[in-house]
Amino acid sequence: SGRWAKATAILKDFEEKCRTPVDKLRQVTDAMTVEMHAGLASEGGSKLKMIISYVDNLPTGDESGLFYALDLGGTNFRVLRVLLGGKEGRVVNQEFEEVSIPPHLMVGSSHALFDYIAEALAKFVSTESEGLHPSPGRQRELGFTFSFPVRQTSIDAGSLIKWTKGFSIEDAVGQDVVGELTKAMERVGLHMRVTALVNDTIGTLAGGRYFNENVIAAVILGTGTNAAYVEKAHAIPKWHGDPPKSGDMVINMEWGNFRSSHLPLTEFDQELDLDSLNPGEQIFEKIISGMYLGEIVRRVLYKMADEAALFGDTIPAKLRIPFVLRTPDMSGMHHDTTPDLKVVAKKLRDILEISNTSLKTRKLIVELCDVVATRGARLSAAGILGILKKLGRDSVPDSGEKQRSVIALDGGLFEHYTKFSNCMENTLKELLGPEIADSVVIEHSNDGSGIGAALLAASHSQYL
Ligand code: ADP
Ligand code: MG
Repeated sequence: SGRWAKATAILKDFEEKCRTPVDKLRQVTDAMTVEMHAGLASEGGSKLKMIISYVDNLPTGDESGLFYALDLGGTNFRVLRVLLGGKEGRVVNQEFEEVSIPPHLMVGSSHALFDYIAEALAKFVSTESEGLHPSPGRQRELGFTFSFPVRQTSIDAGSLIKWTKGFSIEDAVGQDVVGELTKAMERVGLHMRVTALVNDTIGTLAGGRYFNENVIAAVILGTGTNAAYVEKAHAIPKWHGDPPKSGDMVINMEWGNFRSSHLPLTEFDQELDLDSLNPGEQIFEKIISGMYLGEIVRRVLYKMADEAALFGDTIPAKLRIPFVLRTPDMSGMHHDTTPDLKVVAKKLRDILEISNTSLKTRKLIVELCDVVATRGARLSAAGILGILKKLGRDSVPDSGEKQRSVIALDGGLFEHYTKFSNCMENTLKELLGPEIADSVVIEHSNDGSGIGAALLAASHSQYL
């Protein structure tokens, strides 16, 4: 019928605009490396902030003692307690707890958010069991993973540049987040010192390096997306401090804010951006990360309902609600292997209150999920290639001796959206070519970020 033709036309048009052939991906990669250079050259020189993390030494394995970590960066935060036993003992013991953040605190005041966090942390500290106490006379020390853009001023201080991922707390912007946390800890009577402020990419890099010395970069694909890597200090013109002994400096790219005319953006992306809390910002993140993929699918479905009456004469009311279709639900539909697409039918019924869809319609929806996930996955691969290229690790060196490059990956999207992660890894191989592909390894760093923050807290302890 005409309706069906119209719906498929919308999908085909969308698919066409989302295409990421290899030559386009290479343009994205090249634009990424150009922006990396610009961001390293001068402060504000690029959309890529290329933030100097003040981490110039990654964990060696010698770290020992009891350390805490706090990981804040999405809808949940985690508190961790890690007992490190040096080279031999490694991670002797680790305990953690996950706490969800009530939505009103994500858009409230700095005071309220940090009080909530400090209280949860104090509660967790009170559950320390036998053998898991700090050494007598020592203050507890914490690595704070705070995964929003921060202007770092030292390893243990930095001011919030802006919120992302649905957070919007005006009075925290510009504040030193370690100061905010420390004040809140004092208010709840918790005596703990933040010795390292990092974000999840830096934590994941540190955690990854602790277990594998070939880890050179970390990428997060979760609610948002970001990457960090180990740069040579002399390749950072904007660094005016003393040259670090190691010669290295870890850079937090904040690649979620990358944008380029080569990115395949559609009307749906433009509208999503305009309606977001941070219009014009985090464009790369908005076409790749877990917070947005399901919402892009919803927007296309809405157009199909509106212009092609895909679900009947009226637009299903639920389909009008922004973010009602979450990426895990999209992923569930995309991975549906039942012959009659039962999972798709159930998601449509439960989430959008749409029943009686035809198999043909359900297939169309799976294809739509595939278009959105494939674009995000292939662009992530292009970004990773950008890092490898910047480091000269994207091809066989003149010496002919291949270096092994391991990228530590973490985040719920990477971990749970199998079609997404498979596509990303295959695309990276495709881009690298067979000669170099086997020396580049993607390694899932399961919660490396928490351990990494504890490790950095240890290597920056006041008692060293
Ligand atoms: P954060 O990025 O907030 O620190 P995570 O790394 O745990 O947290 O990632 C959570 C995100 O991962 C969710 O917002 C969601 O978008 C995505 N995600 C979680 N589970 C799935 C799933 N089964 N399929 C696809 N995406 C998922
Ligand atoms: Mg996280």
